[in-house]
Amino acid sequence: MPFSSLGLSPALLRAVNARAYTTPTAIQSVAIPAVLQGRDVLGSAQTGSGKTAAFALPLLQQLEQAPKDKPRRVRTLVLVPTRELAAQVGEEFRSLAQHLADPVKVTVVFGGVSINPQMMGLRGGTDIVVATPGRLLDLIAHNALSLGSVSTLVLDEADRLLDLGFAEELARILALLPAQRQNLFFSATFPPDVQALAQTLLREPVRVDVLPETQNEPDIAQRAIAVDAGKRTQLLRQLITQHGWTRVLVFVATKHAAEIVADKLRKAGIDAEPFHGELSQGKRTQVLADFKTSRISVMVATDVAARGIDIAQLPVVVNYDLPRSTADYTHRIGRTGRAGESGLAVSFVSATTEAHFRLIEKRQGFKLAREQVAGFEPVDTAPIEATTTGGVKGKRPSKKDKLRAAAARNP
Ligand code: AMP
Repeated sequence: MPFSSLGLSPALLRAVNARAYTTPTAIQSVAIPAVLQGRDVLGSAQTGSGKTAAFALPLLQQLEQAPKDKPRRVRTLVLVPTRELAAQVGEEFRSLAQHLADPVKVTVVFGGVSINPQMMGLRGGTDIVVATPGRLLDLIAHNALSLGSVSTLVLDEADRLLDLGFAEELARILALLPAQRQNLFFSATFPPDVQALAQTLLREPVRVDVLPETQNEPDIAQRAIAVDAGKRTQLLRQLITQHGWTRVLVFVATKHAAEIVADKLRKAGIDAEPFHGELSQGKRTQVLADFKTSRISVMVATDVAARGIDIAQLPVVVNYDLPRSTADYTHRIGRTGRAGESGLAVSFVSATTEAHFRLIEKRQGFKLAREQVAGFEPVDTAPIEATTTGGVKGKRPSKKDKLRAAAARNP
């Protein structure tokens, strides 16, 4: 089905053509007509499915066709969990809006940076606000904007919003919105709290489910390498040089680890930078830009970077530390193999994390052979406890899991 059959205006089709999108993705072909008809949408989709354009295009069209307010009033509110995703969604809106005859104003607001420029940016009103919840409430408290005219609410990565503890902020924001509105709800996973939120928000939504397709996509090759914890940095260096990897996203568990690993790689002559929540916003933006433009080849990140960030042509993701939550495994490896490219996801598994990796395999429904690399054969033996990572967030291993892990260690 071509884009031209979805009911989009000529100005928006021009923007789509300019981005060289040839056919709509699965979520776009369902969501675009549904949003244009004013329907609520419930999408189980993650970043990489084309979901941003799936809501941005029809919402821009609604604004294009709506009578203009002077001063501008917020019509579209997009709530996102992280600053990076906010910036990215804002960029996509602006880029898709560039050919509209009447300019649409898009304002992006997030915490961690001074509020004053954002207050200035909201002077004279705005049409679209893309926001993280805490900063949005701060701006409302400063009378910098009001939500009384919002006609469409988008919750992007709803599971992540709740994971990051935004439930209370969300409830306060929802209370400020007009009851009569369109709601678009996107989430990669649907644990009970996300389902409950979707149920309270949505009215007879059109459902789009693109997860099975993405999960089964064969274009992300997954590998697990058994290696002692103390040898991981050396192994990482060897893999990077041996395979000539030029753009690698390495996930670690803590900010400290991000600093240490990046530092060791740099000392070994590899352009690496840490990326975590303790860096200033300016530094984070710069590191991400440097990584995207290949000025650095390795970004060593905490899970701050696990979701939402869109890095085109990211061939390799390495789980130096395993993610604590099994769902984050999918989000981390989803950073690679995007938009039809192929990707490689490598996980380092040591004696202490073996049981945890089995749990990830079980919960995510896959099973990998443990590979060994010459010179890095593990010698450490398994600990007594089933996991040393504190277990899986929200899902403690059952007795059965522990027994299976113990049996597997002592065959
Ligand atoms: P998203 O899921 O919104 O983060 O989008 C993932 C990536 O797919 C982004 O780089 C988009 O620019 C790209 N994209 C979105 N829609 C299409 C399309 N119809 N065809 C090709 N690429 C697309």
